[in-house]
Amino acid sequence: MMTEPKPCPYRSVELGRLFCSLATQEGERSTSRVYNETCAGCQMAKIKREHPCKNLDIGLNIAAHRDRSTIDDVLVACKAYRIILPEMLDDCTPECPAWSEDPEAKAMPDPMPEKPEAEGSEQ
Ligand code: SF4
Repeated sequence: MMTEPKPCPYRSVELGRLFCSLATQEGERSTSRVYNETCAGCQMAKIKREHPCKNLDIGLNIAAHRDRSTIDDVLVACKAYRIILPEMLDDCTPECPAWSEDPEAKAMPDPMPEKPEAEGSEQ
C-alpha cells in the first residue's frame, strides 16, 4: 500500500513548477522557484524539529540560476522578542521564557522524502 505523501508544507505546485513560500524574494537573483535539488538540501525542517517553538520564524534567500536554484542563506528570527537569532539558535530552547511548543514543527517532514513504491509494483 502506498504511504500517504508528506511533502514540505511550504512547497506549492503550479503549472509543472515548484515554488517555496518561505522565499524572501530579496536580492538581484532572488526567486521563489525551487527544484527537487533545491529542496533536498534545505535545512528548514531540521531547524524546526530541533527548535519546535511557535515563535521561530524562518526565511530563505533563494538564488536563481539558469535551470536550478540554490538556498544561499537561511534567516531565523524570534517573533516573541523580535530579534534575529544569532549562533544558530543556541538560545531557542524550552528554557526560554517565551517558549511555545509547536507540535507541527516537531513533526516537520523531511524536505524531499523518497517516493514510495506502490505495493505489488516489484516485478
Ligand atoms: S523544502 Fe525548503 S526550499 Fe523546499 S519548499 Fe520547503 S522550505 Fe522551501
